[in-house]
Amino acid sequence: MERSQRVFPGGVNSPVRSFQSVGGTPIVFSSGKGKYLYDVDGNEFIDFCASWGPLIVGYSHPAILSAMEEQLHKAVTFGAPSDLEVRLAEKVIDWVPGLEMLRFVSSGTEATMSAVRAARAATGKNKFIKFEGCYHGHADQFLVKAGSGLATLGNPSSAGVPEGTISDTLTAIYNSEESVNELFEKFGNEIAAVIIEPVAANMGLVLPKPGFLQFLRKITEKFSAVLIFDEVMTGFRLARGGCAELFSVQPDMWTFGKIIGGGVPAAAYGGKKEIMQQVAPLGAAYQAGTLSGNPLAMVAGYATLCEIEKQSAFNLLEKLGQKLDSIVETELKPFFEKEKICYVREGSFFCFFFGTNKLPNNFSEVAATNMTLFNKVYHAWIKQGIYLGPSGYEVGFLSTCIEESDLKKMVNVVKDVLMTEE
Ligand code: PMP
Repeated sequence: MERSQRVFPGGVNSPVRSFQSVGGTPIVFSSGKGKYLYDVDGNEFIDFCASWGPLIVGYSHPAILSAMEEQLHKAVTFGAPSDLEVRLAEKVIDWVPGLEMLRFVSSGTEATMSAVRAARAATGKNKFIKFEGCYHGHADQFLVKAGSGLATLGNPSSAGVPEGTISDTLTAIYNSEESVNELFEKFGNEIAAVIIEPVAANMGLVLPKPGFLQFLRKITEKFSAVLIFDEVMTGFRLARGGCAELFSVQPDMWTFGKIIGGGVPAAAYGGKKEIMQQVAPLGAAYQAGTLSGNPLAMVAGYATLCEIEKQSAFNLLEKLGQKLDSIVETELKPFFEKEKICYVREGSFFCFFFGTNKLPNNFSEVAATNMTLFNKVYHAWIKQGIYLGPSGYEVGFLSTCIEESDLKKMVNVVKDVLMTEE
């Protein structure tokens, strides 16, 4: 870490990796296998981070390794079309009903940035609505009241972002129809898009209230605005067809990342044909990338999706999640009653909030929970060889490698800390 700190700001290549909010020194890793992570000192950790999502079938899965190994000897990049990118795109289009056309990029940030550009091009309007506590990558226009690392650092907006680049960013409150109505009343005909994490996983885990996504679908239709589901987190993790399938609401556009590249940098944005046809070279909205559709990422992503099918991963993870629910219920019930903790899970995402027994519905309710207690639990997890993302604003991830005994171990650490707090 000392060497890291000399060469990288804060010793990290992404602020969420720093231990700034939980305190202490980040762990420096050297390898991973299945559900285990190993640091450079040889310590073993059970992994509930999955590299922030991509590794849904665990580290170093043999099918993904062999697909990449084979590709490694053929070509690692072409900068030209390949059959590999078509194969993955066809699979994604097959999985996600309503998605007609997409484009591969290299990060979630590029995907959301490009999706909003296409939406603006398609509607001829400039403003867009995002929600407080949602994170859509680090493009200037999104760094207003954002979640994840920005929330962790207690500064949900960023320096170095000129007023001009965010003057068309409107911010609403997650789960508040009223806040969205207000913005549409005021700026209705100028709003190109509404972008949302349909399940918010960058302010802890916050689920959409029943009907909220349906409401967004209706109001965007009424004002001819594009509804964008940012499924960088949720895509290929919660359901085959994503949140559209889960909540029976179809957006106009999607963004994907993480699992789509199987842990190698890849992401995508896509949607209805008439919107995607705005993108160059068909249309006038320019967007490009030297390594877009990178062959290694395309085979890793394809192999991951095939493995999800082979393992019936969504069913398997839901069953594992239900086991976690019942362990939490058995072990932590007294602490719910004492208003020390609450717990939420959706598929393979889980989250504990401390100092309350009422689940937060939006960012300010999350921010009011006891992060100091989270930090205490976090260090107890690390001490017991359990790794999660180092912030109370992040979620836990289950991979298909996790077993019941791992869940018990993780929950028992929470219980032990809460008992010492009494
Ligand atoms: N959107 C969401 C919902 C995300 O969670 C993230 C990253 N965690 C991004 C966009 C940005 O993706 P990337 O870090 O690949 O740029």
